[in-house]
Amino acid sequence: MIIGIDLGTTFSAAAYMTSDGPRLIPNALSETLTPSVVGFDTDDAMFVGRAAKELAVLQPDRCASVFKRYMGSTWKVRLGKREFTAEELSSLILRSLKEDAEAHLDTIVDRAVITVPAYFNDNQRKATIRAGQLAGLTVERIINEPTAAAIAYGLHESGDEKVIAVFDLGGGTFDVSIVDLFDGAVEVRASSGEAFLGGEDFTQTLAARVLESRGFVFERAELETPALVARVMQQCEAAKRLLSRQDAARVRIPNRDGQYVDPVDEVQISRDEFTKWTEHILARVELPIRRAIGDAKLNRTDITEVILVGGATRMPTVVQRVTEIFQKEPRSRLNPDEVVALGAAVQAGLVTRNSSLDDLVVTDVSPFTLGVEISKQIGTEYRGGYFLPIISRNTTIPVSRVQRLSTLHANQTQLRVGVYQGEARRTQDNLLLDDFVVQGIPRGPAGQEIDIRFTYDLNGVLEVEATVVETKRKVSVVITKHAKGVSPAEIERAVAAMEALKTHPREETANRFLIKRAERMYQELSVFHRDHLAELLDGFETVLDLQDREAIDRYRSEMEIFLSQFESQEPAGDDDDVASE
Ligand code: AMP
Repeated sequence: MIIGIDLGTTFSAAAYMTSDGPRLIPNALSETLTPSVVGFDTDDAMFVGRAAKELAVLQPDRCASVFKRYMGSTWKVRLGKREFTAEELSSLILRSLKEDAEAHLDTIVDRAVITVPAYFNDNQRKATIRAGQLAGLTVERIINEPTAAAIAYGLHESGDEKVIAVFDLGGGTFDVSIVDLFDGAVEVRASSGEAFLGGEDFTQTLAARVLESRGFVFERAELETPALVARVMQQCEAAKRLLSRQDAARVRIPNRDGQYVDPVDEVQISRDEFTKWTEHILARVELPIRRAIGDAKLNRTDITEVILVGGATRMPTVVQRVTEIFQKEPRSRLNPDEVVALGAAVQAGLVTRNSSLDDLVVTDVSPFTLGVEISKQIGTEYRGGYFLPIISRNTTIPVSRVQRLSTLHANQTQLRVGVYQGEARRTQDNLLLDDFVVQGIPRGPAGQEIDIRFTYDLNGVLEVEATVVETKRKVSVVITKHAKGVSPAEIERAVAAMEALKTHPREETANRFLIKRAERMYQELSVFHRDHLAELLDGFETVLDLQDREAIDRYRSEMEIFLSQFESQEPAGDDDDVASE
């Protein structure tokens, strides 16, 4: 069975294709959004999703979130007994989604289409494919998030040709794509974005302002008083969401140990203040929009519709800015948190040739320029470090292009090929994807010819081939910087290592989550309520040990009722305050 997965910075979601269209898959807590958070408790047992998010408030050092930003890099974090890369942490999220899907669909799920920000580079895409493998999934396709959103919107749309702008502001990344929709075709014309711009930046800025008002400096406080910062971040996340639907919100400030002591210190924030403080973040969407429209060879007025994707587009200031830029109100028929997973499921249906999708054709573009490093003759000398583009940004994929290079010196028998991605004239300002050496060039005068072929596949994964023209000798490399030299046996070992991590049985997830939620709440309550909650918790843990099903259900509903009295300020997992058409 194949599913579509939106592996998000803050939330992830999975969906599958039915004859009636794509459907979301609920997790063990019956929710369609699973927080992209992983944690290990003091027994080194693993938590994923909402339970991990709860644990993160109490023990931030045992949990990791927002790691998607580090995909494909050497970044690592220690959690409990071992260190994890972003790729490994992502595999744990994917595994959890796979297990939820298997439980929901009652079948083995072993294939997936996974979405990535359009702006993800080659390393990040490869890392995503590997994360899928580590989770026991064959990744059939990697597709761009805005493309997935356009597919979800484009499905069953008929009528005139539309040019839509997909504005995707997620937890950590911003993408904008210009897409043509006509007669069942979804054709991406241009994509642009920023890898480090998202809803988390708004939360962090708010937290920094709140902390500043109490004499703290955010970066220093993170190191010195992590429990305080974790709580303030959680409160600011909730406040930010409240400010999406009301004019003011409060942030409660705990003491340096993260405890709320009476009388609790509070900061009141108005929507206007929040808007002013985060103006500089929002301003950063302008340039990628301008670039995408320019690359699509259009004017702003040519855009017939704007669609919003990503949780951060629920902020009224974002909607307002988008309306100003495009001079039209954006559409939000589909839930911005779910639309990407739905589109991924449609793509999964295309992979398996689901008959309901016979008329749908999707084409995408490469969001970056790809090329090689060359030397140029400047006056009488040769100077290295120049970038020669081979595939220009926003070329429709798949694509294959050849560029002929020639040796600089007489009797030069080898040539180093540096492969870069970026838009700058000098390679030092672009991203080095990989380099390799072409050997066996015949001796002779300068000017021996070498053909460099770049092939960019449907997943946005690059393959480079060099051929010495005279001898037809070929060197080919798949650009796999961080997964270089990984053999199938090594992948198998890595999969086994990830599988060995102790997880809770799926049916226990809801109970574990409830305990973590109650433990967090315990710290925030007055002594009187604490005693009551402690009694409930003790009783709940006892009946869990005894495996008394009936008593477990009873305690569970009592605890739910108790906790819900105190959680009015909590961030709701999925708000329903989106304007619908
Ligand atoms: P995504 O990666 O698309 O799931 O986007 C998640 C981001 O959207 C996070 O930074 C959330 O804080 C943010 N978000 C979700 N709901 C809201 C809301 N109602 N108001 C403001 N931001 C939100």
